[in-house]
Amino acid sequence: MDDGLLIVISGPSGAGKGTICKKLLTEMDFLKVSVSATTRKPRKGEIDGISYYFIEEEEFIKRIKNGEFLEYAKVYGNYYGTPKDEVFKQLKEGNDIILEIDIQGALQVKKNYPMGVFIFILPPSLKELQNRIEGRGTDSKEVILRRMECAYDELNYAFEYDYVIINDQVDKATEKIKHIILAEKNKAVRNKAIIRKIREEL
Ligand code: ADP
Ligand code: 5GP
Repeated sequence: MDDGLLIVISGPSGAGKGTICKKLLTEMDFLKVSVSATTRKPRKGEIDGISYYFIEEEEFIKRIKNGEFLEYAKVYGNYYGTPKDEVFKQLKEGNDIILEIDIQGALQVKKNYPMGVFIFILPPSLKELQNRIEGRGTDSKEVILRRMECAYDELNYAFEYDYVIINDQVDKATEKIKHIILAEKNKAVRNKAIIRKIREEL
Protein backbone atom coordinates (compact mmCIF):
# COMPACT_ATOMS: atom_id res chain seq x y z
CA MET A 1 0.00 0.00 0.00
CA ASP A 2 1.26 3.51 -0.75
CA ASP A 3 1.74 5.88 2.18
CA GLY A 4 -0.99 8.40 2.88
CA LEU A 5 -0.61 12.08 2.00
CA LEU A 6 0.93 14.45 4.53
CA ILE A 7 -0.67 17.87 4.08
CA VAL A 8 0.99 20.77 5.88
CA ILE A 9 -1.01 23.96 6.32
CA SER A 10 0.55 27.19 7.61
CA GLY A 11 -0.07 30.91 7.45
CA PRO A 12 -0.26 33.92 9.72
CA SER A 13 -2.37 33.68 12.87
CA GLY A 14 -5.91 34.76 11.98
CA ALA A 15 -5.57 33.87 8.27
CA GLY A 16 -8.28 31.23 8.71
CA LYS A 17 -6.28 27.98 8.99
CA GLY A 18 -8.41 26.57 11.80
CA THR A 19 -11.67 27.51 10.08
CA ILE A 20 -10.59 25.98 6.77
CA CYS A 21 -9.17 22.81 8.36
CA LYS A 22 -12.41 22.24 10.25
CA LYS A 23 -14.38 22.52 7.02
CA LEU A 24 -11.94 20.28 5.14
CA LEU A 25 -12.25 17.60 7.80
CA THR A 26 -16.04 17.53 7.53
CA GLU A 27 -16.10 17.64 3.73
CA MET A 28 -13.28 15.13 3.15
CA ASP A 29 -14.07 12.57 5.79
CA PHE A 30 -11.04 10.41 4.91
CA LEU A 31 -8.72 13.14 6.24
CA LYS A 32 -7.29 12.90 9.74
CA VAL A 33 -5.80 15.72 11.76
CA SER A 34 -2.66 15.36 13.84
CA VAL A 35 -3.12 16.57 17.43
CA SER A 36 -0.08 18.61 18.49
CA ALA A 37 1.43 18.94 21.95
CA THR A 38 1.77 22.44 23.39
CA THR A 39 2.86 24.22 26.55
CA ARG A 40 0.23 26.94 25.92
CA LYS A 41 -2.63 27.05 28.40
CA PRO A 42 -6.00 25.89 27.01
CA ARG A 43 -8.37 28.58 25.73
CA LYS A 44 -12.05 28.49 26.63
CA GLY A 45 -13.68 25.50 24.95
CA GLU A 46 -10.44 23.70 24.08
CA ILE A 47 -10.27 20.05 25.10
CA ASP A 48 -7.10 18.18 26.08
CA GLY A 49 -6.32 15.41 23.59
CA ILE A 50 -8.62 16.90 20.93
CA SER A 51 -7.54 20.53 20.44
CA TYR A 52 -4.00 19.85 21.70
CA TYR A 53 -2.19 17.72 24.23
CA PHE A 54 -1.63 20.39 26.88
CA ILE A 55 1.63 19.61 28.71
CA GLU A 56 4.12 21.39 30.96
CA GLU A 57 7.37 22.82 29.57
CA GLU A 58 9.49 20.28 31.48
CA GLU A 59 7.59 17.40 29.87
CA PHE A 60 7.84 19.05 26.42
CA ILE A 61 11.63 19.38 26.71
CA LYS A 62 11.88 15.76 27.81
CA ARG A 63 9.97 14.72 24.66
CA ILE A 64 12.28 16.85 22.47
CA LYS A 65 15.30 15.07 23.99
CA ASN A 66 13.64 11.68 23.37
CA GLY A 67 13.19 12.61 19.69
CA GLU A 68 9.41 12.25 19.97
CA PHE A 69 8.57 15.15 17.63
CA LEU A 70 8.51 15.17 13.83
CA GLU A 71 9.00 18.91 14.26
CA TYR A 72 8.65 21.43 17.06
CA ALA A 73 8.94 25.18 17.47
CA LYS A 74 8.50 27.97 19.95
CA VAL A 75 5.61 30.10 18.68
CA TYR A 76 4.58 33.32 20.46
CA GLY A 77 6.42 32.17 23.60
CA ASN A 78 5.02 28.63 23.82
CA TYR A 79 6.27 25.30 22.53
CA TYR A 80 4.28 23.38 19.93
CA GLY A 81 5.21 20.01 18.42
CA THR A 82 3.91 17.21 16.21
CA PRO A 83 4.10 13.69 17.73
CA LYS A 84 6.21 11.69 15.26
CA ASP A 85 5.11 8.09 15.91
CA GLU A 86 1.42 8.83 15.55
CA VAL A 87 1.86 10.67 12.22
CA PHE A 88 4.06 7.99 10.65
CA LYS A 89 1.78 5.20 11.88
CA GLN A 90 -1.20 6.87 10.17
CA LEU A 91 0.73 7.52 6.94
CA LYS A 92 1.96 3.89 6.83
CA GLU A 93 -1.68 2.76 7.19
CA GLY A 94 -2.46 4.82 4.08
CA ASN A 95 -4.30 7.58 5.94
CA ASP A 96 -4.05 11.20 4.77
CA ILE A 97 -3.01 13.54 7.57
CA ILE A 98 -3.28 17.30 8.00
CA LEU A 99 -0.77 19.23 10.09
CA GLU A 100 -1.73 22.80 10.92
CA ILE A 101 1.61 24.14 12.07
CA ASP A 102 3.73 27.28 12.01
CA ILE A 103 6.35 28.09 9.38
CA GLN A 104 9.42 27.04 11.40
CA GLY A 105 7.80 23.64 11.91
CA ALA A 106 6.70 23.34 8.27
CA LEU A 107 10.27 23.97 7.08
CA GLN A 108 11.51 21.15 9.36
CA VAL A 109 8.87 18.80 7.92
CA LYS A 110 9.83 19.82 4.38
CA LYS A 111 13.44 18.86 5.12
CA ASN A 112 12.58 15.56 6.83
CA TYR A 113 9.61 14.55 4.70
CA PRO A 114 9.76 16.27 1.26
CA MET A 115 6.89 14.07 -0.04
CA GLY A 116 4.54 16.30 1.98
CA VAL A 117 2.25 18.86 0.34
CA PHE A 118 2.87 22.35 1.68
CA ILE A 119 0.03 24.89 1.58
CA PHE A 120 0.26 28.50 2.75
CA ILE A 121 -2.93 30.35 3.63
CA LEU A 122 -3.01 34.14 3.39
CA PRO A 123 -5.67 36.73 4.24
CA PRO A 124 -6.66 39.11 1.42
CA SER A 125 -4.88 41.95 3.31
CA LEU A 126 -3.08 42.68 6.60
CA LYS A 127 -5.94 44.99 7.61
CA GLU A 128 -8.41 42.14 7.17
CA LEU A 129 -6.07 39.89 9.15
CA GLN A 130 -6.16 42.32 12.08
CA ASN A 131 -9.98 42.51 11.88
CA ARG A 132 -10.18 38.72 12.01
CA ILE A 133 -7.85 38.34 14.98
CA GLU A 134 -9.72 41.07 16.86
CA GLY A 135 -13.09 39.60 15.85
CA ARG A 136 -12.07 36.15 17.10
CA GLY A 137 -11.87 37.70 20.55
CA THR A 138 -9.38 35.16 21.93
CA ASP A 139 -6.25 37.31 22.24
CA SER A 140 -5.17 40.34 24.28
CA LYS A 141 -4.15 43.65 22.61
CA GLU A 142 -0.47 42.85 23.27
CA VAL A 143 -0.77 39.36 21.72
CA ILE A 144 -2.58 40.78 18.67
CA LEU A 145 0.19 43.31 18.11
CA ARG A 146 2.83 40.57 18.35
CA ARG A 147 0.93 38.37 15.90
CA MET A 148 0.57 41.25 13.39
CA GLU A 149 4.33 41.92 13.50
CA CYS A 150 5.00 38.21 12.94
CA ALA A 151 2.50 38.10 10.04
CA TYR A 152 4.45 40.76 8.15
CA ASP A 153 7.69 38.75 8.42
CA GLU A 154 5.94 35.47 7.65
CA LEU A 155 4.89 36.69 4.19
CA ASN A 156 8.52 36.19 3.11
CA TYR A 157 8.11 32.44 3.50
CA ALA A 158 5.21 31.98 1.07
CA PHE A 159 7.62 30.86 -1.67
CA GLU A 160 8.87 27.94 0.46
CA TYR A 161 5.44 26.33 0.00
CA ASP A 162 3.98 24.40 -2.95
CA TYR A 163 0.69 26.33 -2.97
CA VAL A 164 -0.62 29.69 -1.76
CA ILE A 165 -4.33 30.09 -1.04
CA ILE A 166 -5.89 33.51 -0.41
CA ASN A 167 -8.66 33.04 2.11
CA ASP A 168 -11.07 35.71 0.92
CA GLN A 169 -14.12 33.48 1.30
CA VAL A 170 -13.93 30.32 3.38
CA ASP A 171 -15.95 28.21 0.91
CA LYS A 172 -13.83 29.14 -2.09
CA ALA A 173 -10.51 28.71 -0.26
CA THR A 174 -11.59 25.30 1.07
CA GLU A 175 -12.71 24.21 -2.39
CA LYS A 176 -9.30 25.09 -3.83
CA ILE A 177 -7.52 23.04 -1.16
CA LYS A 178 -9.84 20.09 -1.84
CA HIS A 179 -8.80 20.21 -5.51
CA ILE A 180 -5.12 20.32 -4.52
CA ILE A 181 -5.55 17.30 -2.25
CA LEU A 182 -7.35 15.29 -4.93
CA ALA A 183 -4.74 16.15 -7.57
CA GLU A 184 -1.87 15.29 -5.24
CA LYS A 185 -3.47 11.96 -4.28
CA ASN A 186 -3.59 11.01 -7.96
CA LYS A 187 0.06 11.73 -8.74
CA ALA A 188 1.78 8.69 -10.29
CA VAL A 189 4.52 8.76 -7.67
CA ARG A 190 1.92 8.31 -4.92
CA ASN A 191 0.27 5.35 -6.65
CA LYS A 192 3.18 2.98 -7.16
CA ALA A 193 1.58 0.12 -5.22
CA ILE A 194 -1.64 0.08 -7.25
CA ILE A 195 0.30 0.31 -10.52
CA ARG A 196 2.45 -2.65 -9.39
CA LYS A 197 -0.66 -4.63 -8.44
CA ILE A 198 -2.32 -4.08 -11.83
CA ARG A 199 0.88 -5.02 -13.60
CA GLU A 200 1.13 -8.27 -11.61
CA GLU A 201 -2.33 -9.29 -12.81
CA LEU A 202 -1.01 -9.75 -16.35
P1 ADP B 1 -6.11 30.83 12.28
O1 ADP B 1 -6.46 29.39 12.62
O2 ADP B 1 -5.36 30.95 11.00
O3 ADP B 1 -5.43 31.55 13.40
P2 ADP B 1 -9.02 31.23 12.41
O4 ADP B 1 -9.53 30.09 11.61
O5 ADP B 1 -9.11 31.15 13.91
O6 ADP B 1 -7.50 31.59 12.00
O7 ADP B 1 -9.77 32.53 11.88
C1 ADP B 1 -9.61 33.79 12.53
C2 ADP B 1 -10.97 34.50 12.57
O8 ADP B 1 -11.31 34.89 11.24
C3 ADP B 1 -12.10 33.62 13.07
O9 ADP B 1 -12.97 34.41 13.86
C4 ADP B 1 -12.79 33.15 11.79
O10 ADP B 1 -14.16 32.91 11.99
C5 ADP B 1 -12.56 34.33 10.85
N1 ADP B 1 -12.44 33.96 9.42
C6 ADP B 1 -11.75 32.93 8.90
N2 ADP B 1 -11.84 32.93 7.55
C7 ADP B 1 -12.57 34.02 7.21
C8 ADP B 1 -13.01 34.59 5.97
N3 ADP B 1 -12.69 34.05 4.79
N4 ADP B 1 -13.76 35.71 6.01
C9 ADP B 1 -14.08 36.30 7.20
N5 ADP B 1 -13.71 35.81 8.42
C10 ADP B 1 -12.96 34.69 8.44
P1 5GP C 1 -2.66 28.71 18.57
O1 5GP C 1 -2.00 29.00 19.89
O2 5GP C 1 -3.38 29.91 18.02
O3 5GP C 1 -3.53 27.47 18.63
O4 5GP C 1 -1.51 28.37 17.55
C1 5GP C 1 -0.47 29.27 17.36
C2 5GP C 1 0.41 28.82 16.21
O5 5GP C 1 1.03 27.58 16.51
C3 5GP C 1 -0.34 28.62 14.90
O6 5GP C 1 0.42 29.26 13.87
C4 5GP C 1 -0.34 27.13 14.70
O7 5GP C 1 -0.34 26.77 13.34
C5 5GP C 1 0.96 26.75 15.35
N1 5GP C 1 1.02 25.33 15.75
C6 5GP C 1 0.04 24.56 16.24
N2 5GP C 1 0.47 23.31 16.44
C7 5GP C 1 1.77 23.28 16.04
C8 5GP C 1 2.78 22.26 15.98
O8 5GP C 1 2.59 21.10 16.33
N3 5GP C 1 3.99 22.63 15.52
C9 5GP C 1 4.29 23.90 15.12
N4 5GP C 1 5.51 24.14 14.67
N5 5GP C 1 3.37 24.87 15.16
C10 5GP C 1 2.13 24.58 15.62
